[in-house]
Amino acid sequence: MPGVVVVFVFVVLLLLLLVLLWARSARTAHDLLVSTPRTLLVTAHPDDECMFFAPTVLELLRRRCSLFMLCLSTGNYRNEAEVRKKELLRSCHVLGVSPSNVTIIDHRELPDNPTISWNVQLVTDLILRHVKEHRIDLMLSFDQWGVSGHANHVAIYQAFRYIYVHKLTPPGCRMLCLHSVTLLRKYSSLLELPLALLQPHVLLCLARCSQYRQALKAMMCHRSQMLWFRWLYLLFSRYMFVNTFWDVSKIELELCGAIPDSR
Ligand SMILES: [Zn+2]
Repeated sequence: MPGVVVVFVFVVLLLLLLVLLWARSARTAHDLLVSTPRTLLVTAHPDDECMFFAPTVLELLRRRCSLFMLCLSTGNYRNEAEVRKKELLRSCHVLGVSPSNVTIIDHRELPDNPTISWNVQLVTDLILRHVKEHRIDLMLSFDQWGVSGHANHVAIYQAFRYIYVHKLTPPGCRMLCLHSVTLLRKYSSLLELPLALLQPHVLLCLARCSQYRQALKAMMCHRSQMLWFRWLYLLFSRYMFVNTFWDVSKIELELCGAIPDSR
């Protein structure tokens, strides 16, 4: 009997801790998004916006932030560039992003290919041009592991890093990167939420039921990508439910060993 009481107290305390963390996280997100209402999401391929960033896109739009999207390739790995460009615009429409806010780069030096490293200077220039043109104050993209390790995702982080190191952002503009997590955590679906809350972050976006359904509907627009294993991804990937972001400056400090690796 005392054992049951101990477990009960432990569970109650844990739930209380999670509620407190959730409240703190929501307050931090609110403060951040109020002070940085013009956001640029930089992705590498059509479908990244759905597969990895859907909770964020939907949360930003719910808070009436101005969201711009820059997709750096046409997703031409299997010579389907035209199809994939249309799929991306349809997906954005379902998510609620205006087509006029979506830019798809079609550049021969930026092929959709996991074995080709993109020119970081070129990626940097494209991002900074967009930041200036749209007066962006919050930039979002992948972290140094690129969620899936895809070289094109990682190239965007390298450009973010370059921008950070050379202090090229406009005053007040912040750069946040999507946490990459271990394989087990990646496919833990909503069970990931407690760990996501415990992990240090500056922005956490959680998809509500209706938002998850909207993300699924948007993903259906990427018909050319809906192979059988993608269905499993949609069910089990944490990125369909929760996104957590960390500042580029903090990542660089971690990489320098100034603070412990929290990954
Ligand atoms: Zn991708």
